[in-house]
Amino acid sequence: MPALSNADIMPASGWLSLRNGIVLIAGPCSVESRHQFMETAKQLTSGGKISALRAGVWKPRSRLGEFEGVGEKAFPCLKEAKEKTGIPLAVEVARPRHAEACLRHDIDIVWLGARTTVNPFMVQEIANVIRGTGIPVLVKNPVSPDLRLWLGAIERILDAGTSRIIAVHRGFNTHDNKNCRNLPLWEIPLELKKIMPGIPVICDPSHIAGNREGLAGIIHTALGLDMEGIIIESHYRPDTALTDSFQQVSPVEMHTLITKAEAFREQKDFSQPLEALRERIDNFDNIMLELLAKRFAVSSEIGRIKRKNGESIVQPQRQQAVQKEWMQKAGKLGLDPLFTGKLLQILHDESVRYQQENKNEK
Ligand code: PEP
Ligand code: MN
Repeated sequence: MPALSNADIMPASGWLSLRNGIVLIAGPCSVESRHQFMETAKQLTSGGKISALRAGVWKPRSRLGEFEGVGEKAFPCLKEAKEKTGIPLAVEVARPRHAEACLRHDIDIVWLGARTTVNPFMVQEIANVIRGTGIPVLVKNPVSPDLRLWLGAIERILDAGTSRIIAVHRGFNTHDNKNCRNLPLWEIPLELKKIMPGIPVICDPSHIAGNREGLAGIIHTALGLDMEGIIIESHYRPDTALTDSFQQVSPVEMHTLITKAEAFREQKDFSQPLEALRERIDNFDNIMLELLAKRFAVSSEIGRIKRKNGESIVQPQRQQAVQKEWMQKAGKLGLDPLFTGKLLQILHDESVRYQQENKNEK
């Protein structure tokens, strides 16, 4: 039995100050220099309320030779920023010695990055270091869309006696990154919330979008889905950032984005159940449309292969097998069989059209 359970998780408002009801954590991807961090922190905290400042001290880099963060040298300036702004500081920990350093330097919050959550050995070692300290922990989703790994990391932190935990949805790494850096797969954080109703879930639009243009849409979707806040990367001069420069925004832009999202929520009047529910429907529709586009792209690919192999486009055996699977799964989900049959027919017809339409492609 873990020391603590889902029922012990504290609401975010119990330990962080919220901005208009949401958690707002902002700061640069990496601490680069005293001047860069102090200037960013000053601008972020003078522009409006934020709950905490994020600061990447050790950076997990895919390729050798990239900027790996300034390491422990960052701590004096983090201390100075805390003294000047009074805002709690959050730092990523990826190894036990990172967690030890954060505890030694009185860091307020630590977070597990996506490359750490994916590794239960490492999560456990970090949990052992923080055991009994109660330091708050943000747990990002793992790089792969594996809900059990995310849940397991949260359980290991709970087991270390920490009740101040927030799950961070930062999307899932993919090769299919035309529109965004990490696929949001919104159904996964929603499922996490269903399994652990006490857990606050916030969204990291910076790492989902991977670019500035995509941020607003992701923030709106996250808040529309009732996520409890945002963690966003902000740098006083984003274009010069040593890491993730494409996705960082200036503190002014950050506040504008959040103010717009707040206005959007207000205008929608989420206190009215109808508006909140419609917002959820709109978000599910967006997810379904994106999935449909992906499904038909695969249909085209299948069409190409069938033509190359000289196979016929319509294959009744496969069609029957798919129909059987659909009816069984849909039945378990409580969907009406008549509706399921009609929907599958429409999808199948369109899929055939996609497979035939690319007839002349090489
Ligand atoms: C980060 O927050 O800068 C980071 C490395 O994020 P992630 O772990 O989500 O990739
Ligand atoms: Mn980053």
